[in-house]
Amino acid sequence: MKIVHTLADLRLALTDSAHPAFVPTMGNLHAGHLDLVTRAKALGDCTVASIFVNRLQFAPHEDFDSYPRTLEADAEQLRAHGCDLVFAPSERELYPQPQTFKLLPDPALADILEGHFRPGFFTGVCTVVMKLFQAVFAGKAQGTAVFGQKDRQQLMVVRHMTEQFALPIRIVSGPTQRAADGLALSSRNVYLSASERAEAVQLSLALKALGQAVRASGSPALPDLLALEQQAMHALSARGWKPDYLTVRRQSDLLPPTPTERATGALVALGAARLGSTRLIDNLDI
Ligand code: AMP
Repeated sequence: MKIVHTLADLRLALTDSAHPAFVPTMGNLHAGHLDLVTRAKALGDCTVASIFVNRLQFAPHEDFDSYPRTLEADAEQLRAHGCDLVFAPSERELYPQPQTFKLLPDPALADILEGHFRPGFFTGVCTVVMKLFQAVFAGKAQGTAVFGQKDRQQLMVVRHMTEQFALPIRIVSGPTQRAADGLALSSRNVYLSASERAEAVQLSLALKALGQAVRASGSPALPDLLALEQQAMHALSARGWKPDYLTVRRQSDLLPPTPTERATGALVALGAARLGSTRLIDNLDI
């Protein structure tokens, strides 16, 4: 496995690859990231992972500075999982000048849910993903990039971007990897104290219960969808969480389902909530 830090070295290392398979990450890798790498191995002729904590997708009050940076341990894990090439650029390498050109995703998808609570988040994500795609796939007739369903809305935004710019890149998704108790693995789980860690699974349990309640409420639309969502948020608040949203949406576009869709449509329960100072997100198909 090769580790490169510059765009020039990345391109050189990819000279003989016709179809790279790429997993972008912000590092502090866990079994969720590594599952994506294992998937990527079957999808291209060179498996590439990037490790870059992207300042553009953090608001000034968020955890950019404290985000865990563990390059050596990450590289070891990537090597053990058969990754061929790691791209770990410095900020100066990826953003040699302030990145004043940015990609503006469709607000209908990017300004709801995560985008509502983290304004500009998906602009930061799209801008860095486009840059990384350019770095890895430029000059290649085709490529594959693998993203986790854990970040459901991000996966959809990236798919939309790839389609609208007609990039010759296939976007493949991997299912959310969870700890034994059901907590979705996340680099941010290291922020949790022991008691918070024990509590953290309640987010996915709340989403599961909300999903079941919405299905059971069926069609016509009684009780009100919003009332069920608010109940779920109150229940988490009573346990000491600060929820941003717990909601049930259509899988196709993340908009609220119609009464008929509530009974039979393809739905997803999504949530984001703060436990202590740690913001966790999760989602479950219904
Ligand atoms: P991040 O390092 O958090 O930016 O995540 C990099 C990639 O790993 C993204 O495509 C995430 O959706 C994915 N990912 C993060 N956590 C998980 C998980 N628990 N299971 C599967 N994929 C994940």
